Amino acid sequence: MFHVKRRRRMLCYAPMALSRIIAIANQKGGVGKTTTTINLGASLAAADLRVLLVDLDPQGNCTSGLGMDKNTLQASTYHVLTEGADPLSAICSTDLDSLDLLPSNRELTGATVELLGVKRREFRLALALEPLHERYDFILIDCPPTLGILTLNALVAADSLLIPIQCEYFALEGLSDLMDTLGRVQQSLNPKLCIEGVLLTMYDERLNLSAQIRQSVRGHLGDQVFQIIIPRNVRLAESPSFGKPILLYAVRSKGADSYLQLAREILAKMAPLEEKLPYATHSIGVIS
Ligand code: ATP
Ligand code: MG
Repeated sequence: MFHVKRRRRMLCYAPMALSRIIAIANQKGGVGKTTTTINLGASLAAADLRVLLVDLDPQGNCTSGLGMDKNTLQASTYHVLTEGADPLSAICSTDLDSLDLLPSNRELTGATVELLGVKRREFRLALALEPLHERYDFILIDCPPTLGILTLNALVAADSLLIPIQCEYFALEGLSDLMDTLGRVQQSLNPKLCIEGVLLTMYDERLNLSAQIRQSVRGHLGDQVFQIIIPRNVRLAESPSFGKPILLYAVRSKGADSYLQLAREILAKMAPLEEKLPYATHSIGVIS
């Protein structure tokens, strides 16, 4: 039987030597950035990895999607970025034992203006996250749908960039701007930044259009595209309104399964070659 235990350690991956910071970004709106941040994070946490989600979007969808009231936050990403507040004073726990959240709300909109005159303003998040590297195996940053100073902070702090792309017309629109930004960040601010992968989301197998988009994206981006494709799944759309990742809302759904597979794919890429098979075939997230 499948089940997920809340606030209990479930699995069996050894903690990683160094935390990996993944920025989840695409300036196109509504492509699945927040859904991916929450559910990839929960899937990695279900593998007993210590995960921090950073809500870097003034919309605060990642925060409310995990059941927190974004209007009553004492401290948030805003205070960390603009006032140099200790992130530990703002980090909250979630219903999953090893999944934490640095929350956000619309106050963060002000950061865009307040950081304007600040020296090395692109490095604020990287600096704030530095002391957390030992506490977490993964830090996932949910970016806003813009290429402004907030996303720039995420790209400077990150080891890699995960780009969700919705399977619809104009899917690749804006991608060249994101790639230009990536190139500029690599050249001048963060040479280690690489592409974690491009993730096709909201795939509808009944539509020819979805298949065409998949082919076209794979044609353009080749093996940078993850093998796993996230299907359009109503449970994924419903779970934020219950304040839960899909693993705690509908663990048997296709949506839950696809994000568990994404976590496996990422871990398999990171694992040493000889450990690839066990990583890829066993053990994340559900107990049978
Ligand atoms: P924004 O740019 O506004 O931050 P986003 O890129 O973070 O948006 P999401 O908020 O994750 O996108 O998703 C947009 C909408 O699509 C949400 O209502 C979400 O619940 C829904 N959604 C995301 N992924 C799926 C999916 N695979 N199946 C069905 N609905 C989905
Ligand atoms: Mg979002």
